[in-house]
Amino acid sequence: MFIYSESPYLNRTQGQPQFACTHGQQSYPPNQGQQPSKVLDDDPDENPNPQPPSPSVPPLEELNQFSGYGNMDGTPLQPPPSYNEALHLPPPQSQDITTTVPVVSEEQARTALLNHVSQNCCFGSKAANKMKFTNILPSSAFHYSLESYTEKRSPKWAYEPYHGQVIDGPFNGAAPFPWDIEARPPALFQSHTVNREVPHTASIKPCHDCIGLGRKRCCNCRGKGMTRCKKCKGRGYTFDYRINNERRHCDSCNSRGRVRCSVCNAHGQTECLTCNARGQLKCFIRLTIEWVVHHDDHVVERTSLPDELIRTVSGETVFKQELPRVWPINHFPDVNIIEASNNLVQRHLTGFQAERVIMQRQKVRAVPVANIHCQWKNNSFSYFVYGFEHKVHAPDYPQQCCCGCAVL
Ligand SMILES: [Zn+2]
Ligand SMILES: [Zn+2]
Ligand SMILES: [Zn+2]
Repeated sequence: MFIYSESPYLNRTQGQPQFACTHGQQSYPPNQGQQPSKVLDDDPDENPNPQPPSPSVPPLEELNQFSGYGNMDGTPLQPPPSYNEALHLPPPQSQDITTTVPVVSEEQARTALLNHVSQNCCFGSKAANKMKFTNILPSSAFHYSLESYTEKRSPKWAYEPYHGQVIDGPFNGAAPFPWDIEARPPALFQSHTVNREVPHTASIKPCHDCIGLGRKRCCNCRGKGMTRCKKCKGRGYTFDYRINNERRHCDSCNSRGRVRCSVCNAHGQTECLTCNARGQLKCFIRLTIEWVVHHDDHVVERTSLPDELIRTVSGETVFKQELPRVWPINHFPDVNIIEASNNLVQRHLTGFQAERVIMQRQKVRAVPVANIHCQWKNNSFSYFVYGFEHKVHAPDYPQQCCCGCAVL
């Protein structure tokens, strides 16, 4: 196999640690029975968090430069300007829009209210059963929504332990520009992320974390192989408080004041996790490609029914359009929808600077809303039936406590 390397480190003899591992200098194992008379100040306490610090990327000066790949800190790249050509498509033919929605009958209004009452355990049903209808005012709410499906590409240096895998380096040709790398989402309007190795950017480097040795100084004993005995705090003896603080043999360290490091087993070194003890890394540019759905909407509803309720129910789709770039709606019975479409289309046109818009879709749903006015026991109240599901909003329902406390 051909291994591409630019580094002088690669020719170095490996396997022999070159940094200080001082447990040998401390005459380990110490003589049995030795009674240290003072605390061994050079033994470190056990590190409560012996995890090595997270490795960073190799130093940038050791990595190759590739045209078109920006600063490589994971910031999304600007899309190429050619993708804006879809803006020059002519507007589609305007559609005939009918916004008539079904009107709720008295029977449906009563059934819907009875259902609503049955779902609220405290509500009494007598008012819903006996009330008389005085008026039903039907109307349509409109729910406009706009979605932009975009793609962003963020390059970043990445590495993995080198264990002999194929290296596709600059010797195979020039690295393709980020937006020239083929990648398709699994489906339109579905969020998805993939990572791709950029062709011809790989190389083998000595591991920056262990300078190519495969092993690192143990974080627990700081390379000494021994840690201070926790029980006697390194003194080699303990005090017996029951007998005039008499000194006692420390059975934890056999009165040596120090114990073998439990993490490195007294070797002073542990395997380097960054290179998986291999000493070498495969470095390459990883391109993260992310497909995102940006969604905005607007509700036009003219009664006192809370607007957000319209989003949760079904209605009839009276307008829909899916194009690489949709055109703002300029023909609709309600001018507020035209205005909302213009605002949101404009916002999506300029809102995603570092993303390429692949497809957009907009639609308007007409949702039936009926304001029902009724009379019960000489008291008037009203409620709403909305959506094809005949959902009910009845904050003024007169019999909200079946035990009688709120009965009018
Ligand atoms: Zn001890
Ligand atoms: Zn250790
Ligand atoms: Zn390493």
